Amino acid sequence: MENKTRNNSTRKLVNISNPTIHISYKPQTYTPKQAALAMMDKKHIMILTGEDFTADSGLPSLRSYNRHKVCVNGEYLDVEKVMKMQYFTDYTEICWRFLQEYITIHEKCHPNKAHHKFENYDRKISELNPFTSQVYEIHGNIKYMHCTNEDKDCCMNFIRTPSSTEFESEDKRLVQKCKYCDSLMRPHLLFLDEKYNQKYYKAKNAYEFMRDKMDCLILVGCTDLKGFPK
Ligand SMILES: [Zn+2]
Ligand SMILES: [Zn+2]
Repeated sequence: MENKTRNNSTRKLVNISNPTIHISYKPQTYTPKQAALAMMDKKHIMILTGEDFTADSGLPSLRSYNRHKVCVNGEYLDVEKVMKMQYFTDYTEICWRFLQEYITIHEKCHPNKAHHKFENYDRKISELNPFTSQVYEIHGNIKYMHCTNEDKDCCMNFIRTPSSTEFESEDKRLVQKCKYCDSLMRPHLLFLDEKYNQKYYKAKNAYEFMRDKMDCLILVGCTDLKGFPK
């Protein structure tokens, strides 16, 4: 592995939550043209997108979603409380109703300019299998769900989450069961009290690409690598 440390004035940053990733860089201001030139010889570019990536599409970030005051059964719900596996286990229907509100907002959103720049990647995201060799959705994808029975192979079947109209129609129940093992279906989302994992989110692949291959990192809609999987 090539060491990219340049000179003494280069600042060494160590990510606290992920101490095995060492980033050394000397902050510089680049014009778009200079940035493009600097990237020209790079072979393994990683584009890390955060939740502000979709802000221009009208999709609220997880935190600002609170301001939308999602009301379920007369109670205003706090996203930090609801988006937890423990809450999902205890109040499955409320959690799904909360997610359904978010899906309704999601359906009204359109790709923004940044999405169009990464159009090829977007097309891969919209394919039925959310995992591709080039896109790692390490926080999951609300468009999919899978069964909660970890011991059975069927937990790896990713089923489309019903749309808001399907949710409303009478033949689709809000809380769904796996058609193979009858276990509860859960959203393909990393809840706030869950850890990144390889099984569902290919988090290890994303980390290994970053550690072993990446020679250029572009951050879009996020500011640092805090919390990146290890
Ligand atoms: Zn995220
Ligand atoms: Zn199942």
